[in-house]
Amino acid sequence: MALAFDFSVALCLCGEKLLSLSAMPRVLDPELRRALAARIRFYHEMGIYDFYRRPVSIRIDKVASTIAVDEEVAISRHTLEPGEEMNPRKSTAVAMPAAIEGDENIFDAIALKPEQSVSDPVKALKIIREDLGDCTRCVLHKQGRKQIVFGVGNPNAELMFVGEGPGADEDEKGEPFVGRAGQLLNNMIKAMGIEREQVYIANIVKCRPPGNRTPERDECATCSPFLMRQITVVKPKVIVALGAVAAKTLLAMNASMMQLRGRFYDFRPAGVRSNDPDWDGCKLAVTYHPAFLLRDPRQKGEAWKDLQMVMKELGMKALKQNT
Ligand code: URA
Repeated sequence: MALAFDFSVALCLCGEKLLSLSAMPRVLDPELRRALAARIRFYHEMGIYDFYRRPVSIRIDKVASTIAVDEEVAISRHTLEPGEEMNPRKSTAVAMPAAIEGDENIFDAIALKPEQSVSDPVKALKIIREDLGDCTRCVLHKQGRKQIVFGVGNPNAELMFVGEGPGADEDEKGEPFVGRAGQLLNNMIKAMGIEREQVYIANIVKCRPPGNRTPERDECATCSPFLMRQITVVKPKVIVALGAVAAKTLLAMNASMMQLRGRFYDFRPAGVRSNDPDWDGCKLAVTYHPAFLLRDPRQKGEAWKDLQMVMKELGMKALKQNT
């Protein structure tokens, strides 16, 4: 079955928070690209595989006003917790739809990745690491990072933790969560009755933001495709997003931690198509970032509730609470 894929329609279909286009983009906005990939995947699931383009006839002013209203709604709904927020969205400008037709092939976003041709997850992760190289894709490479912090742990892990980005200790050692927050994460993992080596741990951004600032939205968008590929290789049963940056980037949604916690989400890595018939995504739960728990230990009980929910999902029994 074929479908005429009108990118103006796609723009309208892609929802409220995905319409941020820069004034004269040479490349497609990563969020929009991800949304379009998700839309194409949706069509695939309905059995629609072939698309052709037709000329776009679109009223720019109409789209512009839709975007402006949707952005306002998204921003006004948005209530964040102190210390757990991402930087506010910059103002939206509208591009000529022709620019979307131009430089980038949206279908690349869902093409199989090179690591998907190997079955050994260790080799597959190595391919992703090599692809990342000595990354200069975002400004973080020239803002004092010592090394790229790729990820660590069991490449066959059922449970994966995703944090925000490396701090000074992680930048020094090249491994995620090895500082004070990492010690607490280790204790949280132990309280679940397992060892750090049994899980896989990674971050949204792989380079240390200067002064441990929150990674910018574009830095998350540039780096997270590599994380999506790592997730597709590891194929966890459950991902725990540590803090608001991880949660909001993975879920591509804007909400407070209070709204995000306490439930499971069905998660599929954006922009990667699993070629494993036995793995088509996993559950995702959100909990507080260990650094936040160090600042406000009263919330540890809440985090423990989140982890217990995860343990139940994985059929695990707690040994004791020793965080
Ligand atoms: N905080 C994070 O989000 N990740 C780390 O690796 C360390 C601290």
